[in-house]
Amino acid sequence: MKVLVVGSGGREHAIVTSVAKSPRVDKIYCAPGNAGIAALAKCVPIGAMEFDKLVAFAKEQAIDFTIVGMDDPLVGGIVDVFEAEGLKVFGPRKNAAILEGSKAFSKDLMKKYHIPTAAYENFTSAEEALAYLETAKMPIVLKADGLALGKGVLICNTLEEAKAGVKEIMEDKKFGTAGNTMVVEEFMTGREVSVLSFVDGKTIKIMSSAQDHKRAKDGDQGLNTGGMGNFSPSPFYTKEVDDFCQKYIYQATVDAMAAEGRPFTGVIFFGLMLTEDGPKVLEYNARFGDPEAQVVLPRMKNDIIDVMEACVDGRLDTIDLQFEDNAAVCVVLASDGYPVSYEKGFKISGFEKFDGKDDYFCFHAGTKFDENGDIVTNGGRVLGITATGADLKEARKKAYEATEWVDFANKYMRHDIGKAIDEAK
Ligand code: AMP
Repeated sequence: MKVLVVGSGGREHAIVTSVAKSPRVDKIYCAPGNAGIAALAKCVPIGAMEFDKLVAFAKEQAIDFTIVGMDDPLVGGIVDVFEAEGLKVFGPRKNAAILEGSKAFSKDLMKKYHIPTAAYENFTSAEEALAYLETAKMPIVLKADGLALGKGVLICNTLEEAKAGVKEIMEDKKFGTAGNTMVVEEFMTGREVSVLSFVDGKTIKIMSSAQDHKRAKDGDQGLNTGGMGNFSPSPFYTKEVDDFCQKYIYQATVDAMAAEGRPFTGVIFFGLMLTEDGPKVLEYNARFGDPEAQVVLPRMKNDIIDVMEACVDGRLDTIDLQFEDNAAVCVVLASDGYPVSYEKGFKISGFEKFDGKDDYFCFHAGTKFDENGDIVTNGGRVLGITATGADLKEARKKAYEATEWVDFANKYMRHDIGKAIDEAK
């Protein structure tokens, strides 16, 4: 088979790494890919939003299967464009990717189908939102409706902050048209757990759980980032939590989408908060999380192509989805100063230490080749260093060991990824 993966981050590197393990695959292409992916796939310089060029490439190269990792092209309808040309593609169609593309849609869906989530109101007028906030209980959460690079959520402790937030989202349009509609949501407290799943329109199979560290600094201090590291499985995702979610959240979401005439095929990411009243949905994503993919996929026993093809063909029920009885920890190596400002273009050394090891992974996020063919830093989050081990403790020790194998100027990381593991015991 010839496989095309669309995207360029650590998530896509993890996907390509899994695809490369499939004996069914002869050749992998990645558009646009990155310097790490280039070791496993032929990277083609086509952007993820250039649907026409991607389709033309897939036809020209007789691509058998395309996997879309990123949210923007999915929400923009890339799957519909590929399908219209008779090309086999893994991911939700536009009318299903709205589960991530519009928070107002997903909240209304959860309300209609009694899926546990925070209480909320949707607003299209700043005036009405402000009037509502006057009587609301603080803290409160404001969310831009559309895609905002994971930044469109504001947690406001006071009425003044909330008013400023409404101005930012709805009037100043800090997140662009994503803020034309705004969700105002009840503030919840509890542990956060991520659950990824494969879905074929009617059947859903849950992958192993994961837990993210979003803040920039140790002790969950500092600014919110795209993620500084994570681990899988989460010790807080107990059998009791799983039973609850299986009963009230997972299948209910898939059934709700089907009932709305928007059958979902692909990966649903459930961002859950374990509240005192039980698990509630914080958000849905319509694709693998990043870096969640970097700790979950290395633990998957199945051939990823078998599973994804079964999703597209509507026969996921025939797949016995299995994960290793181990754990994985991913530590993000970032550029010092991320997420605010940082320098790029520093040479990275030490990649060869990962060669030939199947329990250590160096996933590239923000890297590129410079004019000399050297790999240099090219973003805030540079590398995701993942290790698997018998348990979380061992995986964590190994991942931190491996963070020392690679070096670059201004290398920055958190030192407490997965520390909650020990607290939980
Ligand atoms: P989201 O993109 O909706 O998952 O929101 C990003 C982050 O904001 C989440 O991971 C939570 O940490 C936080 N958050 C979102 N909604 C709420 C809420 N209703 N209560 C408390 N925290 C929230």
